[in-house]
Amino acid sequence: MMRAKEVKTLGKVYLVGAGPGDPELLTLKAARILGRADVVLHDALVSREVLELVAKNAERIDVGKRCGQKLLTQEEINALLISHAKSYDVVVRLKGGDPLIFGRAGEEMEALRGAGVYFEVVPGITAAMGAAAAARISLTYRRAASQVLFTTVHRVREELEIDWRRVTSTTTLVIYMPGADHKHVARLLRESGWPEDMPCAIVSAATVQNQQIRWSNLAALATEPALPAPALLIVGRVAAQVVEEAREGFWEKASARGARNEGLQRRVF
Ligand code: SAH
Repeated sequence: MMRAKEVKTLGKVYLVGAGPGDPELLTLKAARILGRADVVLHDALVSREVLELVAKNAERIDVGKRCGQKLLTQEEINALLISHAKSYDVVVRLKGGDPLIFGRAGEEMEALRGAGVYFEVVPGITAAMGAAAAARISLTYRRAASQVLFTTVHRVREELEIDWRRVTSTTTLVIYMPGADHKHVARLLRESGWPEDMPCAIVSAATVQNQQIRWSNLAALATEPALPAPALLIVGRVAAQVVEEAREGFWEKASARGARNEGLQRRVF
């Protein structure tokens, strides 16, 4: 006689990108999946407006970090994803920006693979793209940069540290998690031969109501006050035009001439 088989099938885990904050920057697919979710494990970075799209009867779990205090460890999150896939059909792991950029999705996918849980990744607009759009910086530009580096200086394992001398100043850098103190980044780049007048933009809360953008350059960056988290740094010649515009009060003059300026293009320089 054949043994009875376990009939319950495992649910599916969706690793979903919530984008940089503005709920209109969510993909249609992400919005659809949030509306069908049975359980959503989300980061602290995910905006309230995005969370409003989660199915009303879904369980929501905030697994994020607040003020450096971890609510759950990565191992606990991995274990929760697997255990919820045993009880629910649609399990959503919702992350700020894109799940595959500084999102610890690597560990989660490894754990899910190990447990034989099927998963799908739904991309989101990463903070770099949200910030570049907010600051109107073209990350590549025929005259200035043909490559972009998304990187961080925060808790990088020693063996993965970048050899900054090999990164040429024709690269646009987008530095995630720059930390409260920009001295470290400024020193690294200057010691690697990047010019002092290299333009930088500090972009805080890109695409949301309290968005702030501050321009600087490598010489001044070390003493620039940090803007509220989440913030990132864009460093490169491509930022020069924004710096020029700010200096000349270009947009203020344009709006005085009647140019329309709706939405979130508020600048703080
Ligand atoms: N997976 C996310 C990044 C997570 S790491 C993504 O793809 O965007 C968290 C860092 O992202 C923050 O420290 C900050 O550097 C950056 N970040 C996230 N949202 C941001 C926003 N709205 N504005 C500026 N930086 C942001």
